[in-house]
Amino acid sequence: MSEILEPLDIRLSEDGASLEVEWNDGHVSHTTLRALRWKCPCAICNGEAGHRGRLASLAELPPDEYVLTGVQPIGRYALAPVWKSGHDKGLYTYFYLRNLCECPDHTAVRERVEMKRGMEI
Ligand SMILES: [Zn+2]
Ligand SMILES: [Zn+2]
Repeated sequence: MSEILEPLDIRLSEDGASLEVEWNDGHVSHTTLRALRWKCPCAICNGEAGHRGRLASLAELPPDEYVLTGVQPIGRYALAPVWKSGHDKGLYTYFYLRNLCECPDHTAVRERVEMKRGMEI
């Protein structure tokens, strides 16, 4: 088995509300399209170099920002979701995307990281 994390299959969940990614280590990660959209790491959405992005000042997005029309592979390290609004600037590295997984295991890992951060403050 290859040691490099790679998606074998990328699909919408049956209810159409989540993106499912089947990885080459057997895990199938799933992330709701809403969560995926809000985690867009691009400079427009999330800001860069001290500038706040668009998402920081919004509480809600137009409905067409949550409709996924495709997923573009970027090299062999990232995927760029294409939203109905036309937004396609978010490069989700495999590592980043996998860590957005909402399964109990990945959620528990995230909570541990957040707790640790809280304790450092
Ligand atoms: Zn974005
Ligand atoms: Zn998971």
